[in-house]
Amino acid sequence: MIKTDILIIGAGPTGLFTVFEAGLLKLKCHLIDALPQPGGQCSEIYPKKPIYDIPGFPEILAGDLTNNLLEQGKQFEPGFTLGERAETIEKLEDGSFIVTTNKGTKHHAPVVAIAGGLGSFEPRKPLIENISYYEDKGVEYFIKDPEVYRNKKVVISGGGDSALDWSIFLADVAEEVTLVHRRNEFRGALDSVEKVQELKLLGKINLVTPAEVTALHGNSKLEGVTIIKDGEKILHEADHFIPLFGLSPKLGPIGEWGLEIEKNAIKVDTLDYQTNIPGIFAIGDVNTYEGKLKLILCGFHEATLMCQSAYKIINPGKKYVLKYTTVSGVDGFDGTRKEAPKAVVQAIN
Ligand SMILES: Cc1cc2nc3c(=O)[nH]c(=O)nc-3n(C[C@H](O)[C@H](O)[C@H](O)COP(=O)(O)OP(=O)(O)OC[C@H]3O[C@@H](n4cnc5c(N)ncnc54)[C@H](O)[C@@H]3O)c2cc1C
Repeated sequence: MIKTDILIIGAGPTGLFTVFEAGLLKLKCHLIDALPQPGGQCSEIYPKKPIYDIPGFPEILAGDLTNNLLEQGKQFEPGFTLGERAETIEKLEDGSFIVTTNKGTKHHAPVVAIAGGLGSFEPRKPLIENISYYEDKGVEYFIKDPEVYRNKKVVISGGGDSALDWSIFLADVAEEVTLVHRRNEFRGALDSVEKVQELKLLGKINLVTPAEVTALHGNSKLEGVTIIKDGEKILHEADHFIPLFGLSPKLGPIGEWGLEIEKNAIKVDTLDYQTNIPGIFAIGDVNTYEGKLKLILCGFHEATLMCQSAYKIINPGKKYVLKYTTVSGVDGFDGTRKEAPKAVVQAIN
């Protein structure tokens, strides 16, 4: 059982900033995310795109914003359960919660902050009859650890940035990489398309287009795939099949937790973004209230106010006096201390 003060569901920008604000109040956080990496939409959908409306940053790449948020929260030693979806919640008699993921990992906390954005990103799966049988037996929709593919035969399908980038990366890791796409044209960064072309000419990537993977074979694990190209069936040996057709967000299991839902978002009050269940807050893109704006800076604000109420739940009767970080400094849970240089009292001759 993982124990923490604030259990955050969703490691997007809102969830990541919560770690920092909670840390200032000496509250510890643990984050669950269905994706294998933190950053939410910023790292999954547009890591290389510039954002222009983060206060204090005239321009910042979404991927760099994620890295900065991780760096800012690092001193408060957040825990992460990545690649797992928060599935069920149970309220205990003392008012605390146990949240269990789809892989059975249990988390216990007095406060739950849902920062689930548009919902958990679910992979778009190709319509291949027995694909679910081969999941975790050779079929993967995310690449968590590229080393899994070392010296293996890998078939990737898809025509976007993920399919291109992973084909390029795995060309140096796997024994064989085959990239299958329905069209001859790819929709991705120009340098990635050119790199795949170059690796194809070097014989490091087999490019099969226009074509489609239509069947999977193997007994206890994946051993091969059927590719249809120009109406012809090709039986191709494969240890892994990685369809990268993008992700679609779904509110998913959170929608069944007894929370008030309006238009696929969780209704909250505007005092501290608490839901209809005391102790469960919803912040960032996942919530709704009159005048709601789905912007990163609004998620940061909501996280800050929510932490103040979380403090009161976790420390009943204790008063918290707001201090400026410039004045009080920041004490990390890792023993580090950041503080502004102290003023000196010294005569000037
Ligand atoms: C192309 C694009 C450009 C954008 N540009 C801007 C911009 O310029 N400025 C701006 O302010 N905003 C912009 N946005 C919007 C911005 O990205 C969102 O407002 C922001 O990401 C919301 O952050 P969040 O942390 O609330 O949610 P998200 O970033 O959506 O993160 C939520 C996380 O929760 C996880 N999750 C959900 N449910 C579960 C569950 N049950 N279990 C485990 N994990 C779960 C998801 O996997 C996800 O990682 C843009 C969005 C897009 C798509």
